Amino acid sequence: MLIDTHAHVNFNAFKNDGEEVIKRALADNVWLVNVGSQYSTSARAVKIAQQRERGVYAAIGMHPIHLGSEKFQTSVDKNEEVEFETREEEFSREKYEALISHPKTVAVGEIGLDYYHNISNKEQQKKLFLEQINLAAEHQKPIIVHCRDAHNDVLEILEEKQKEYGNRLRGVVHSFSGRLAQAERYVKLGFYLGFNGIITFARDYDKVISNVDLGNLLTETDCPYLTPVPFRGKRNEPLYVKYVVEKLAEIKNLPVEKISEATFENARELFNI
Ligand SMILES: [Zn+2]
Repeated sequence: MLIDTHAHVNFNAFKNDGEEVIKRALADNVWLVNVGSQYSTSARAVKIAQQRERGVYAAIGMHPIHLGSEKFQTSVDKNEEVEFETREEEFSREKYEALISHPKTVAVGEIGLDYYHNISNKEQQKKLFLEQINLAAEHQKPIIVHCRDAHNDVLEILEEKQKEYGNRLRGVVHSFSGRLAQAERYVKLGFYLGFNGIITFARDYDKVISNVDLGNLLTETDCPYLTPVPFRGKRNEPLYVKYVVEKLAEIKNLPVEKISEATFENARELFNI
């Protein structure tokens, strides 16, 4: 069994064939967590999860880029330049609270800080992050953290909040992009680090992966983005999480089965599924 702990089959990129994409994944023993980025995509993640007894779960939350409406251009490499537009949202605790109580909702996310896309509203981002950390801890749910160019601030917030909540504050730093010293601070907090297709075409995280215990790693795709080799240039989907597992096995010099078993168990433990 494998698990894609960070998928967006709830996004418009899968509007026409999301159902088929999920069927393909489940048929190949791949479970998935669809992650929301604002209210509409969070509600859709819950709706999709409701349709199946097991194997498909939801995370609900408001990503910091939805604090404003803007057009962004993000580029991973020449094979992937993504343009997207965000719709501004005002965070409503009541609305997210209605989604969090659904039995298939396994986490609050994706939430966090993104200074890469917008550095002008740091304080607003921190406030939004804190509100959702509180929401998660009060409902005993882990968090899925998005962090771009902001690891020191994210760490400071989590270290401070863990003094208050203890091990009720748990989670994963998805698409981990920090250095080894930062990885170690997350691990010390009991957090997991999520890796995706980036590790199949960039060598920046080999050192982190080699040094961090397998017990702290999670697998993800972040589909439709970050498609792994050998499908660069095409739309990503949960099925392709197997290429991430294979790469982790290669970097850690361990059998593929050992990586799949451990990362699947890690995810079940964190998300209580
Ligand atoms: Zn994502």
